[in-house]
Amino acid sequence: MQVAKVIVDVPTSQTNHTFDYLIPEPLENIVIKGMRVSVPFGPRKVMGFVVEVSDHSEFDKLKPLDEVMDLTPVLTDELLQLGKWMSEQTVSFYIQNFQAMLPQILKAKYKKEIEALTDVELPEGLQQLFAGRTIMDFEEFIERNGNYALLLEEIKNGHVQINYIVKSKETKKTKVFIGPNKEQYLLEEAIEDMSNRAKKQKKIMEWFIQQPEPVEQQLLLTKLQTTSSTINQLVDKKLLKKIDKKVYRDPFQNTEFERTTSLPLNSQQQAAIKPIWDAIDSKKDEVFLLHGVTGSGKTEVYLQAIERVLVKGEEAIVLVPEIALTPQMVQRFKGRFGSEVAVLHSALSPGEKFDEWTKIHKKEVKVVVGARSAIFAPFENIGIIIIDEEHETSYKQDEQPRYHAREVAKKRGSYHNCPIVLGSATPMLESYARAKKGVYRLLEMPDRMNEGEMPPVEIIDMRDELYAGNRTMFSRNLLDAIKSRIERKEQVVLFLNRRGHSTFVMCRECGDVMKCPACDIALTYHKSSHQLKCHYCDYQIPMVKECQVCKSKTIRYFGTGTQKVEEALREHIPEAKVIRMDVDTTRRKGSHKSLLDKFGNGEANILLGTQMIAKGLDFERVTLVGVLAVDTMLHLPDFRSSEKTFQLLTQVSGRAGRHKLPGEVIIQTYTPEHYSIQLASQYQYQQFFQQEMETRKGFHYPPYYFLTLINVSHPNQLKAQEVTKTICKLLFKHLSAQATVLGPTPSPIVRINNRYRYQCMVKYKDEPNQREVMRRILKHYHDDIYRHDLTIQVDFEPYSLM
Ligand code: ADP
Ligand code: ZN
Ligand code: ZN
Repeated sequence: MQVAKVIVDVPTSQTNHTFDYLIPEPLENIVIKGMRVSVPFGPRKVMGFVVEVSDHSEFDKLKPLDEVMDLTPVLTDELLQLGKWMSEQTVSFYIQNFQAMLPQILKAKYKKEIEALTDVELPEGLQQLFAGRTIMDFEEFIERNGNYALLLEEIKNGHVQINYIVKSKETKKTKVFIGPNKEQYLLEEAIEDMSNRAKKQKKIMEWFIQQPEPVEQQLLLTKLQTTSSTINQLVDKKLLKKIDKKVYRDPFQNTEFERTTSLPLNSQQQAAIKPIWDAIDSKKDEVFLLHGVTGSGKTEVYLQAIERVLVKGEEAIVLVPEIALTPQMVQRFKGRFGSEVAVLHSALSPGEKFDEWTKIHKKEVKVVVGARSAIFAPFENIGIIIIDEEHETSYKQDEQPRYHAREVAKKRGSYHNCPIVLGSATPMLESYARAKKGVYRLLEMPDRMNEGEMPPVEIIDMRDELYAGNRTMFSRNLLDAIKSRIERKEQVVLFLNRRGHSTFVMCRECGDVMKCPACDIALTYHKSSHQLKCHYCDYQIPMVKECQVCKSKTIRYFGTGTQKVEEALREHIPEAKVIRMDVDTTRRKGSHKSLLDKFGNGEANILLGTQMIAKGLDFERVTLVGVLAVDTMLHLPDFRSSEKTFQLLTQVSGRAGRHKLPGEVIIQTYTPEHYSIQLASQYQYQQFFQQEMETRKGFHYPPYYFLTLINVSHPNQLKAQEVTKTICKLLFKHLSAQATVLGPTPSPIVRINNRYRYQCMVKYKDEPNQREVMRRILKHYHDDIYRHDLTIQVDFEPYSLM
């Protein structure tokens, strides 16, 4: 007897373990671990992952499983183990982790079909079922008791394949190919018979005499400058034939990728790549932190490290923040490695993502470039994992499983014995601290390519503007600078931060922001109670009427949107052509790229946008970068706000003057003296690191302490508060005396979708049993969670504190 141990798709604390199912006889030796199966669960049928196949079970009456959903495992042994580990680390359910590793389509409802791929005679059992067709439903295969072993064999031989069909044939696309219908000498004879006037037809025929491979009709049309009616005439004469071919949808099909070759590395690149190459060669799972200023040539280092890996026949994973996964970025990898590269990012349709994933799964590619979840690429022979812009918070998933791609990378690195490269111009404090301690190996690239200088940064004190009677959102210097660029036919990037909610209050006269005396974060304004609260600890005071420092009454909540800025720009500089990029203008697929193309073609003077324009863009004519109000970021109620500001300013400054024209950066702020603005304007990462570390030490934040954030929400405010209070008590009781438990306190965004949100924060050095405690707490509230609308989110080492 064969027994499948299955993790079922029922994500609750009580079902978070394997269930045993009997493997029915026709499926014996077909079902193996890593496959998904459909199993009876109570009155329902649910999906599940087979994590083990065994020859016995502790239970006597086993139900048989219903059906296999995959004929080849979708998860490798390594990924199964990884999922288990992740679920322990993040205190999430096994099923959530397995699901997180697969493309969306495999989670949806879909139909499967079997397709015969060749004219090769299939074995009798299958031939019969197909009965002359090339495609049959998988359902039919099951109903007619098809032979799984036979099917599997033929899949392995490459004679048939399984297609996943999601509504309206989403997973595959067909293209018309044209190919010769006769042998070459017959084509040659046919040409001779053609009249002299049939020049166009002859041209096509000659093409196929030269090379008999079928080509896409579209390509033929452009290459030979011919028409489809000419082709059709030849098809009618039975000289050529049309072939409908299923092809992968290529998201970059309309982009020509110019091939590039390795550049000779300069001395700082050589020094950086040497130890990486060594680790690749000796199969060492070392973690490198590549700290290189923007434009120092990090990407070239990545490319040549990957080259080394490919020569060894191994594979590479490159993670890039979603937002930086621009066509320009993709070009650099596709340009170097061509069709060996798969690209995974969220702008792809589910079908496109599935195609890319399939290429990886079938080992048709060797390199994957993608956002966070590309870390789960089902490669089995990884030689390097690269995480670019390693400080980016988007590498942490903000829903369960709350994994960080960097930690997953390290885990995979130690499985495959391969190096990890973390790259950034502004590494996370935690990472840099680790590198300084020798946990990571630090590689520094302090100089820009070609002796290029970073552009000079001017800081504008917006309080002076106010004093001079300028109440607009543009300083006089910035307006002048923009106008001069428009005159000179150069371009401007204007940046406005709009992350989070602008609920802090600031004095417009002196720039003072009210902070919590214990936690050093900006106090949050709560409209309902008209109070200022610290959302880490419980500190609160009534909303102030005047500035505590200068007594001014110009106390304001802060924040403007991109749309408002666009209107204001129109008013002040009517001649400016503006392209606005924010979540609203880039919602449609492809709009991101088309807006950037427009700007690149010089169709606008100004690119105005949020975070999404801060990274990776590289335009020759951009000589001015303006940051409108850096304060909205600096005063987020987040202990990392200084660090995030520093990173962002460094990032945007890197956008100006990347080429021959010299660049300039203008930053507008009400707190020009703040160290993260000052040091970013001088590109002083080291000093910033030192100063910020002092603050972190003083207020017990990472990297000196670890944090755990527990967020509780419920439609009833009292309930949310009560539960959070109990959790705080339980944690206080069960964690060590060294841990600090803060809370309960209202979350910075107190109410979302009519749910009240409370939180509790733990600061600790070492709490080996905290995950066990959290699991017990979640189990304790199991009933409330599944029946009474309670939500408890536990986030270890949180990045988002809202
Ligand atoms: P980063 O990734 O650190 O921001 P890039 O890799 O984009 O830096 O490099 C900046 C520019 O320098 C790019 O245009 C790149 O093509 C060029 N570059 C990088 N390495 C070399 C090299 N060894 N020789 C010549 N040009 C280089
Ligand atoms: Zn003031
Ligand atoms: Zn506080």
